[in-house]
Order: sequence, then structure tokens, then C-alpha cells
Amino acid sequence: MSPTAESEIVFRGSCYCSAISYVVKGKPILSAYCHCTLCQRLAASPCVATVHFPAAAFNWTHSEPHEDAFDMYPVANKPWKNRFRCKSCGACVASFSTTKFKYSVWAGQLERNEEGQIKNWDLIKPTAHMFYGTRMLDFNDDLPKWEGYEGQSKRLG
Ligand SMILES: [Zn+2]
Ligand SMILES: [Zn+2]
Repeated sequence: MSPTAESEIVFRGSCYCSAISYVVKGKPILSAYCHCTLCQRLAASPCVATVHFPAAAFNWTHSEPHEDAFDMYPVANKPWKNRFRCKSCGACVASFSTTKFKYSVWAGQLERNEEGQIKNWDLIKPTAHMFYGTRMLDFNDDLPKWEGYEGQSKRLG
């Protein structure tokens, strides 16, 4: 088998019950641990590993029609951003920005190998912490920490 080019590597993801699934391909635009209060409320978690891809890199892989599988709703205070939520298990799987024309997915929902590790993790693992100002947990890693968006806010560490 010939090695797959990085731009051709696919990452498969799904909701909690697997009724919704998607594939993203290639190199992400951004990969970071997000500590914003929206992510905290949505995921009920101190932070999420969010990975952004251009719209063309994202495709749903469950059977259509999509309206049977998920609800789409605008994000609170961000009407340009739509979120997709599984109708069966209620898990949110992705969001789509109609202004930046990109999808965000959560790394925690991506396919694992036999050891439970996310496949090809080195290619998409987070390279920063963003919205670190509202963190619930300190991270003692070497990744840059930003008050808001990576590269567009004050660096906190
Ligand atoms: Zn589901
Ligand atoms: Zn966030």
C-alpha cells in the first residue's frame, strides 16, 4: 500500500449514537483547545478540542435525508453560525460558519484505533489553547495560550 499524502488523509467522526457521521479531509485551518464559555455550556466540559476545516473538506456520511438525522440551529449570539444536533442522542456534532465558510468539529468525536487513540492524531492535534481567560482548568503544557482567538488576542502563556 502506498503512503497516503497528508492532504488526502480523512478523519471520520460521529455523534454519541452514531446516527450522524461525517468525514473531514486534509489539514485543518485551526486546531485548539477552546475554553470559551459557549463551548463549556454546550459540552458541559472545561474545554473542547475544536478542529476547523474549510467547507470543501467536510462531508456528511450518514444516509439522507439530513432532516431525519439532525436539527440545525443558529448559535446563541452568533446567528451566522449553525450547529448540527443529532435527533436521536442529542449530541452536537459540528458547526458551520456562513461568514468564514468553514466547519468546526470536536476531536473527541473522531474515530479511534485499537488502542483508543484518535487515528492520525499527530496531524490534527491541538496547537494552542484559546479563550484561556475563561478556563476552568490550568494546563501545564507547552502550547501557546491565548485570551481569545489564536493569534488575534493577548497571549497569556
Ligand atoms: Zn446521535
Ligand atoms: Zn469555544
